[in-house]
Amino acid sequence: MEQAIADCIGRDPEQREFHQVVREFLVSIRPVLDRHPEYRRLAVLERLVEPERMILFRVPWMDDQGGVHVNRGYRVEMSSAIGPYKGGLRFHPSVNLSIIKFLAFEQVFKNSLTTLPLGGAKGGADFDPKGRSDTEVMRFCQAFMAELFRHIGEDTDVPAGDIGVGAREIGYLFGMYKKLQNKFTGVLTGKGLDWGGSLIRPESTGYGIIYFAAEMLGRCGETVAGKRWLVSGSGNVAQFTAEKILHLGGRVLTMSDSSGHIYDEEGIDAAKLAFIKELKNVRRGRIREYCDQYPQAVYVPADPVLGWNPLWHYPADCAVPAATQNEITGQDARHLVAGGVRLVCEGANMPSTPEAIAVFREHAVLFGPAKAANAGGVAVSGLEMVQDSMRMSWTREEVDTRLHAIIRAIHRTCLDEAAAYGREGDYVAGANIAGFVKVASAMLDQGLV
Ligand code: NDP
Repeated sequence: MEQAIADCIGRDPEQREFHQVVREFLVSIRPVLDRHPEYRRLAVLERLVEPERMILFRVPWMDDQGGVHVNRGYRVEMSSAIGPYKGGLRFHPSVNLSIIKFLAFEQVFKNSLTTLPLGGAKGGADFDPKGRSDTEVMRFCQAFMAELFRHIGEDTDVPAGDIGVGAREIGYLFGMYKKLQNKFTGVLTGKGLDWGGSLIRPESTGYGIIYFAAEMLGRCGETVAGKRWLVSGSGNVAQFTAEKILHLGGRVLTMSDSSGHIYDEEGIDAAKLAFIKELKNVRRGRIREYCDQYPQAVYVPADPVLGWNPLWHYPADCAVPAATQNEITGQDARHLVAGGVRLVCEGANMPSTPEAIAVFREHAVLFGPAKAANAGGVAVSGLEMVQDSMRMSWTREEVDTRLHAIIRAIHRTCLDEAAAYGREGDYVAGANIAGFVKVASAMLDQGLV
């Protein structure tokens, strides 16, 4: 195992995010390796940390003034052991190969946990949609798909959204794929409802996170109701996390974007959340504008020099980081514990640093890791693929019921697998072990490919 980590670092020394996720994962599956020597003998780990395929490509596009820009596009197809590659596309200036590989690696085991036949992949570009007009975003998406289309397909690789890729971008990407292939297929998920999308897909990641949190609280005889929640981000995941907290009677105190956060001690109620959705999804404004509408709230600009995020220091009961990776440092985790937080459920992918996770462990904070807690999004993407194949659509209630059942099953599986390896109540170990065993055994069944 140490060899697999050393090989990873030696091969790509600059890929810090990828090393971080691999280390966290391999350490927690050690008991499985000890019980199953065949995984070591057949180099399952060495194979898992090397993507099956990586596609890097140039994306040239023209802005509204006629200026030419060149971005870099990525698609990392990590594993197809249990199904066609599946995972989102991220458009953000920070995107690089390390980030896409870490996300693709996480996606393999998250998809395995959903019980659906989905392999793992991730992609994106170092393009920043912020401040770009709709026509510029459309031209970028078309240029991106002009290369990606030859590598994807409804039975090969099915991308979806992620940071910076929402309904608008999926529409432009799908339109270009259809034109180039002359085929109307379910090649992307997160599609519009009138052209192959699934009800509940926009809500699914956020709703799933709170379904998972409710299961965790339920084990301690507690509920979401009446609890004070700190939420970061104000995009797709954060919005529907907040919505489900409100449905279940909790109080949301914070939301944020990359410029800063708002704190509303009275709570962000349904009307205020509707304002945030309109602000972010339609006007594409900044979270600070919330305080123009609701002056009792406080806006605190982000300060990268600070080294910790003031959003995590308010007194609260529960927290859902739903913005980006490594957004909770060890210092932030100590603030959360000092503020009374007893549950952290990860909405974003890898939002907690290893130091933060150590603090949560030390203080017995209930901790729901991303690959289990935010699997609702890809689960409903899987259900969208099923509906597309059948050329039919299920009702909102039907999809929501299936989503809820999948999340309950993931929660149960995490606890059962953790207990089977003597790690009672450890969701991190449970999620990693359950995700790994299914993929590893499929790899053994399929031989050295
Ligand atoms: P969105 O683009 O809709 O929203 C992202 C939010 O996070 C925005 O508020 C954004 O602010 C903020 N943010 C992004 N980067 C940073 C940063 N570097 N520092 C501070 N804030 C930042 O993305 P999603 O809501 O879809 O994704 C959020 C997280 O959830 C990601 O980690 C993603 O991988 C994960 N996820 C998403 C799923 C989905 O179905 N969409 C499924 C599973 C996981 P700003 O607008 O200023 O950039």
